[in-house]
Amino acid sequence: MKNGLKIKDHILDEYLEAYDIVDEDGLFIYANKAYLKMWGYETMDEIIGTSPALHCLDAEMPKEIIAKVNKDGWGEFEFKAKRKDNSVFDVFMRVSLFTDEHGKKYYHSFSRDITQKKKQDAELEKYRNHLEELVEEKIAELKESAELLKRTESITHIGSWDWDIENDVITWSDEMFRIFGLDKKNGVPGYFKGHSKFFTENSQKIMGNAVTKAIESGEPYEIELSVRKSNKLIKVYGFPKRNKAGKVKSLYGSIQDITEEKERERLLIEAINKAQASDELKTAFLANLSHEIRTPMNAIIGFTNLLKNDHLPKKKKHEFLGIVEDSSKQLLHLIEDILEFSKIDTGQAEIKYTSINFCDLFKKTKLKFDEIKKSQKKDAISIELNIPKDCENLYVKTDPVRIEQILNNLIENALKYSKDGTIQFGYELIDDENIQILVKDEGIGIEKDKIGLIFDRFIQIKSNPDFNYEGTGLGLSIVKGLVDLLEGEIEVESEVGKGSTFKLTLPLLATSSISNKKSKNDVVDCNFIKHLTILVVDDELYNRKFLEEILSSHTKEFFTASNGIEAIEVVMKNQNIDFILMDIKMPRMDGFQVAEEILKINPKAKIIAQTAYVTLLESERFTNSGFIDYISKPINLDDLLAIFLKFGS
Ligand code: ADP
Repeated sequence: MKNGLKIKDHILDEYLEAYDIVDEDGLFIYANKAYLKMWGYETMDEIIGTSPALHCLDAEMPKEIIAKVNKDGWGEFEFKAKRKDNSVFDVFMRVSLFTDEHGKKYYHSFSRDITQKKKQDAELEKYRNHLEELVEEKIAELKESAELLKRTESITHIGSWDWDIENDVITWSDEMFRIFGLDKKNGVPGYFKGHSKFFTENSQKIMGNAVTKAIESGEPYEIELSVRKSNKLIKVYGFPKRNKAGKVKSLYGSIQDITEEKERERLLIEAINKAQASDELKTAFLANLSHEIRTPMNAIIGFTNLLKNDHLPKKKKHEFLGIVEDSSKQLLHLIEDILEFSKIDTGQAEIKYTSINFCDLFKKTKLKFDEIKKSQKKDAISIELNIPKDCENLYVKTDPVRIEQILNNLIENALKYSKDGTIQFGYELIDDENIQILVKDEGIGIEKDKIGLIFDRFIQIKSNPDFNYEGTGLGLSIVKGLVDLLEGEIEVESEVGKGSTFKLTLPLLATSSISNKKSKNDVVDCNFIKHLTILVVDDELYNRKFLEEILSSHTKEFFTASNGIEAIEVVMKNQNIDFILMDIKMPRMDGFQVAEEILKINPKAKIIAQTAYVTLLESERFTNSGFIDYISKPINLDDLLAIFLKFGS
């Protein structure tokens, strides 16, 4: 065998790979040059007859190899080998078994130094592990950012989408379904398969144009659309994605729910506009106010100066005094308006309910405005009072002062904004629970789009250039404030050039009542007052006129006086006066002082106090001052007749 090997020796030596043979005793019988070189030996003699265990770091390794090869006939092994100088290297060994003609077993093997490869493998493994760690880390990060994105989308109301144009497949993020008010389970139809029906018609056009342009040009787009079902406004950002050939093959982007943002923007613009308008209105109001104050003020100052002239004829003096008086009243009216407005505005205006005869209040107003109309020389206008027969004795629980204020403002406007025609006013019951007051004129009218503005403070619509608009724009805002306080409603119908109708509906309160039949007392009283002589003392012309209207035709004699001096004169001349109706609030001498003087002349005089509001303290003062009774303004005829009846004998 040794000889045989020698023959092949030089051939095996030529092998680049290490080759060796071990006999069945486990001792080397051959090793080629490459083997010797790998293990650090110079000649084969150094190892022949030695055990391969010397060449392994683990001395048990050859036993393991032989056992495996005995079993399978061959085997491949990787292990730590030991060189002659004890240095260690990694080796790969392929071992197989052959038997000679005498039945002797031999183990021959090819070995390769794999230290370098092992190192590289280890490096690779390290690198792979590092990569795996990195990938895991990135996946975790992505998961986190996907979660974050989801949360961000729902907080910012931003959704994302992707459209594969070729296959017409649209993918939506969860937030998209919420914005569109759709169920995720039903999926999203493709763009060409009915996607556009989510939007309003106009939005469909906008989207169609933007998408076509983006596909053609590859340019991104930004559009605002209205969603049909959820009624939301959205901002869409779209970005085209091109393939290698430069063709746009898909679009992706985001959608932001801007409904709230748009609403906030709208409210802000509205608030800015309102603030600007209110600023302009205030400036206009102050300019108007200044004009409204200066006009009567100038008249008062101017004519007072003229009145200083001692040589002024009596007629002129009267005329000038009249102008001063009218201007003062105008000024007072303006001041009252401003005070009333600020009271309503600050919630200080109060309502004092009493039960009144509604018809009387309207009759009194009619008298007053007949006079005003005359003094304004508006002869082309007629004023009509319309009250249905069955409503003439209607008692309404309300605040008469406020109703008067409302009527005054509405009829003043009707007069102010008419050149001719008829002003009709009145009231009627519209059902069991509501009464409707109506003021209708045939004046200049109000443009349709301006009607909504006229109740706003300081608003004046000066659309008719032929008309001289005066005022402060407060009148109707006061009316509206008072109507609100009375829990009523006011509406306007108007046509330019034809006229305006103001309709005011008030709820009837529990104690309101209608008495169609005249009471027994009325008959008795009417007969009874035929024998009476009555004096009315009041500085207000309209109050005097009103009482004259309702009483004078029934009484024996009827006198009026506009102040204390006049009243005393009448009493001195007419000792037979049965009743004196005395206003309390009068300039110079008030009702108490006048009553005191009259009682000195005639201690038996029956004086009745007439006043707007009576407190307990006041009522005691009336009795202590010699008044026989008192009556609240506006005067109710029935109540007055009851007093005459009571003290008549
Ligand atoms: P003012 O009369 O002081 O201007 P108002 O508040 O009373 O203020 O009225 C507001 C505006 O409404 C007026 O400027 C006028 O343009 C319009 N208006 C009110 N009443 C009438 C009416 N009867 N006919 C036509 N326009 C009216």
